[in-house]
Amino acid sequence: MRFLLKSFAFLVVTALILATVTLAWGHVHIRRLAPPLPPLEAVTQPDRELDLPVRLTWINTASQRMPRAAVLEPELDPNPDAPYVMSHPAFVVEWQDGRIFLIDLGMDTATAMDFGLPNEMVVGASPMEPHKPASARLGENRSRVAGVGFTHMHVDHTDGLDKLCDDLGPRGPGQEPIALFQHHNQIAQVNHTTRGAKARVQQASCTELRTLGFESGLLEVPDFPGLYAIPAAGHTPGSTLWVVQLRTFPGGSEGVHDDVQTWVITGDVVNQFQGVEYDLPKPRLYSLLVVPENDDRLSQVRRFLEKLSRKPGVQLLVNHDRNQIEATGLPSY
Ligand SMILES: [Zn+2]
Repeated sequence: MRFLLKSFAFLVVTALILATVTLAWGHVHIRRLAPPLPPLEAVTQPDRELDLPVRLTWINTASQRMPRAAVLEPELDPNPDAPYVMSHPAFVVEWQDGRIFLIDLGMDTATAMDFGLPNEMVVGASPMEPHKPASARLGENRSRVAGVGFTHMHVDHTDGLDKLCDDLGPRGPGQEPIALFQHHNQIAQVNHTTRGAKARVQQASCTELRTLGFESGLLEVPDFPGLYAIPAAGHTPGSTLWVVQLRTFPGGSEGVHDDVQTWVITGDVVNQFQGVEYDLPKPRLYSLLVVPENDDRLSQVRRFLEKLSRKPGVQLLVNHDRNQIEATGLPSY
């Protein structure tokens, strides 16, 4: 009996040491990454000569109501009692020729239910409400998906890719795989929170990896004019902001009084818009124990986003803030 107890204690202590070392390494790693951000003008001055995308919509794959204390440090939040609903979107970018690019894919139903449980138990969230997965909402138009990109390699953003590939089935002769665009940091810089999702994304049966290289700043996405990636890090090593320069037709008829609206998809740099507005960190325990974050870096990115959000013609999309996305008027797919 004593031997069993000793063995058990040994296992527990070993597991604790391993977990501590893994977490400590995650913190050291994320603190080393701060790719320079582009000048604001690079983002706010679109090239109007390009064949810019003409439609941007979103598919919310799941919603979960929870206290704001789960996403903003409660001691600093000026409105801790305001309602908050976490969304899990896929953003759908479309060009005139019918091609679709998806930024994040949210989750399918089973993954959403699993993902919601710890939030119910730990932070007092309501039960997760899964909606339809992104592939189901796209329906037959899923065959028009030509490219995908992710804000980062966490399952609540990447899970829907498997369902998309399953629904598309094997690619026939002459059918191009979907181009998966990832910055070098999203491919090569992984930690214990991103390793699993990254492996699944790269093993997906319908995609082919195209690297966005090593550069920083505002990176063009080849073959998708008007779409840009900005390596950000901070939340995960490979965290990436996405910029969509959307051609809009306020006068109604195409080609006449067209204009350009700049949309910036924040991923999990921040989970509630007021985090940007007031430069508020996430809860300290989350950034310390759940996902090892670099809050100095996140603060830089939040201030960059706040300045962008005040420019005319620029709108942010905070992935996990359903009310904020709805308030922008972004249509559902
Ligand atoms: Zn997330």
